[in-house]
Amino acid sequence: MKAAVWYGKHDVRIENKEEPVVQPGKIKIKVAWTGICGSDLHAYHGAPGVIQEGTPHPITGEMAPLTLGHEFSGIVHEIGEGVSEFAVGDRVTVEPMIKCGKCEPCKKGYSNLCDYFGFVGLQSNGGFADYVVVDDYMVHKLPDKVTLEEGALMEPAAVAFHAVKSSQMKVGSKVAVFGVGPIGLLTILCAKAAGASQIIAVDVSKERLQKAREIGATTVINGMEENAVQRILAETGGVDVAFEAAGAEVTVNNAIASIAKKGQVVIESIIPHPIKVDILQITAKEANLTATLGYCGVYKEVIAMVASGQLDVKSIITNKIVLDDLIENGFNLLTSDKSQAKIIVSPQ
Ligand SMILES: [Zn+2]
Ligand SMILES: [Zn+2]
Repeated sequence: MKAAVWYGKHDVRIENKEEPVVQPGKIKIKVAWTGICGSDLHAYHGAPGVIQEGTPHPITGEMAPLTLGHEFSGIVHEIGEGVSEFAVGDRVTVEPMIKCGKCEPCKKGYSNLCDYFGFVGLQSNGGFADYVVVDDYMVHKLPDKVTLEEGALMEPAAVAFHAVKSSQMKVGSKVAVFGVGPIGLLTILCAKAAGASQIIAVDVSKERLQKAREIGATTVINGMEENAVQRILAETGGVDVAFEAAGAEVTVNNAIASIAKKGQVVIESIIPHPIKVDILQITAKEANLTATLGYCGVYKEVIAMVASGQLDVKSIITNKIVLDDLIENGFNLLTSDKSQAKIIVSPQ
């Protein structure tokens, strides 16, 4: 079968690979669509610690070279011994978070904080391939109304959904979203679905802000052209919740500066190095600074909201490509063209 295999920095090869073999408790899926995620780009550009390298992952036993891809949908092709809830031909999406089920966080129900946390497609072979084998607990059926394209968007949608659901946002809240790449855009969709009265999008790309407005931002601010904090404070008196999805020191501090007293900042991005934050502002506002990691137990709700039309996840798709073009029209395009949001890839 064809697969996109990560060997090292700027070394992802579209190559022929043996089809994975289904094992007890696992499901073999014929991949339909796989989304390109920011972490795939980080892996491609050689960011340390993103992909399992050097030592096998404690749960999956796998390490690079690995097939990338963790945001995917497909058709059940074969089921392993002991799998009863699925049948060949089911249309499915995959919740790719790897968990041990035995550590304290897993036992407490926070499997996104599992001590051996990982992702299919980063800590095991993933979905940029014709076929992939995953544990049955990761697989969710798609309702008839939901397309396989939308199925590939469930993973990043779950990240945004978890952030909004765990936040102190309520119906009528005023929110700001800093950084409107795919996660920021999906956060706008979730905040809109949850009843935000005002949604202010902040970014430095005209094209992304245009997209943000199309999908529901009530105000868009280009941080290159004007002072985002001043404008947010002038228009709202301070937002109730600011979601940080850009992953930079300046956006974290702008988010903190933009919230009202008793407000909240939710860090959705992964910031791999220490940054300077003005904690006095948190104290002075008796504000809440928190972060979310991935998602836990929200897939069924996200799928139901996509099926009911409340979360139009397909609106963030900007391009569809084939696996052979993954590097050129996927990774390289996303790196150079800021008007791109989510690119989905078909192996066929
Ligand atoms: Zn992702
Ligand atoms: Zn665990």
